[in-house]
Amino acid sequence: MSIRPVIRLGDPRLRLPGKSVEHFDKELHDLLEDMTETMRDAPGVGLAAQQIGLALQVCVIEVEGQLHELINPRIIRLSGQQVDLEGCLSIPGYLADRPRAEKAIMEARNRHGRRVRLTGSGLLARAMQHEYDHLQGELYVDGLGPAVELVHVSTLREEASQGTAPADDLVEVASSP
Ligand code: ZN
Repeated sequence: MSIRPVIRLGDPRLRLPGKSVEHFDKELHDLLEDMTETMRDAPGVGLAAQQIGLALQVCVIEVEGQLHELINPRIIRLSGQQVDLEGCLSIPGYLADRPRAEKAIMEARNRHGRRVRLTGSGLLARAMQHEYDHLQGELYVDGLGPAVELVHVSTLREEASQGTAPADDLVEVASSP
């Protein structure tokens, strides 16, 4: 296993839609393991293949100690609404209030090519939508309205230390998908 460099906003490889995976072989398993290690090292709650420069339909998500390896995922249902701070390992240091569906249902393949279904709400649903967008070559900042500003993490830390922002929020701040 090895940690791969995470590419950043401005790198054109982030904009390439991923190709479907057809071979569920050792090469894929090695990639999944590298992606999980890279995500945990960052640390983040999700990582898409595009973020390590590969145009493939592969992402990993880890929320509440549960690791999900998702290959060729499709979102089959979105419902409800949530607005919360969202960040991205490819846009380090910044967050923005990003509206998302509160619940998401995804169908994907697992590392062995078997069909799996993942249902998530809250942070997991947010991560599922965020990673799905990466696989299409999209970034969370694309979906922000013109009135929404990116906030630098250091500003939030300052507000928290002055008691103007709840310190709990900073837990999620530290875990960017
Ligand atoms: Zn991201």
